[in-house]
Amino acid sequence: MISIAKPLMGEEEKRAVLEVLDSGMLAHGPRVKAFEEAFAAMCGVKYAVATSSGTTALHTALLAHDIGTGDEVITTPFTFIATANSVLFTGARPVFVDIDPRTFNIDATQIEAAITPHTKAIMPVHLFGLMADMGAIMDIAQRHNLVVIEDACQAHGAEYHGQKSGSFGTGTFSLYPTKNITSAEGGMVTTNDPEIAQLSREIHHHGMGKQYHHHRLGFNFHMTDVHAAIGIEQLKKLERFNAARAANAKFYDEHLQGVVTPFVPDGYRHIYHQYTVRVPDGKRDALRDYLKEHEIGSGVYYPLPIHKQPYYQELGYDLTLPEAERAAQEVLSLPVHPALSQEDLETVVSAINTFMAR
Ligand SMILES: *Cc1c(COP(=O)(O)O)cnc(C)c1O
Repeated sequence: MISIAKPLMGEEEKRAVLEVLDSGMLAHGPRVKAFEEAFAAMCGVKYAVATSSGTTALHTALLAHDIGTGDEVITTPFTFIATANSVLFTGARPVFVDIDPRTFNIDATQIEAAITPHTKAIMPVHLFGLMADMGAIMDIAQRHNLVVIEDACQAHGAEYHGQKSGSFGTGTFSLYPTKNITSAEGGMVTTNDPEIAQLSREIHHHGMGKQYHHHRLGFNFHMTDVHAAIGIEQLKKLERFNAARAANAKFYDEHLQGVVTPFVPDGYRHIYHQYTVRVPDGKRDALRDYLKEHEIGSGVYYPLPIHKQPYYQELGYDLTLPEAERAAQEVLSLPVHPALSQEDLETVVSAINTFMAR
């Protein structure tokens, strides 16, 4: 079986975990701080705050920007549910804007029409490892005095005209096992703003400033040193992992036939968290079954846009976003992780080309 995702754990990670276990400092120890500093450096920002997951990083970032009941946050419906749920956790309301069919990311040209007096933030998602149109989004945010929170949970090391994801607005990352690097579970909030960094730190640790002095309601969202130890070793390998993914993607770009391969606008560095093709003519599910029969894993991210999810329907979302809905019918993500062999890549290409030529 060629799997769709595979975390790559080496001796370095194993040794680092055992060192933490032997040290007795399992949480609030030196590894978390070291991981935060290394992660901030990777993004090119001043501060990073390590969290227990990408979801808690999103939640923390929204609260740090004082987003809550009565506020609206503009985001994409074509993403993992955590993006929009994190807005709901704060009491605010996600407002969905359709996607650009070429990039699968929020269509920046439609954002301004969705702005109301209640809009507080724009939350673009850098889906599949390709950054949203940050030039246009930062420009709109500036003109309307809005906060930008990047959901970079799939975009560690991705770039927009040489600038890293998580360094435009307040960044949020996930370190779940399927992401380009992992700490088993974990997340990160990134920022250049010392106030947002301090607020994030307090929110993710029971609203605590000075030891046992709590000046706001906070959560227990921090990362352990065991997870940080894994993350530190994974971060050292990020460039190598991303380069391997890009090389696999290039092979697919050059050899796949009958499907629409990923579009990368000029000046963007795609880090291929997913290599996602469009399968035309309603053949997506049949292709997926065919690949499964040939022991090739694939994924549909995502089969239902968020505004069509049962829970959001219950909340009263009743809108049509045609490009997100069409993408949900057509997308198929193929294995692109660094552990694939040349033979694996050829197997995938040959299966797809055979099926699509029928
Ligand atoms: C993975 C992911 C999240 C959530 O991260 P967790 O670590 O699983 O909580 C949020 N948004 C997007 C786009 C993701 O891919």
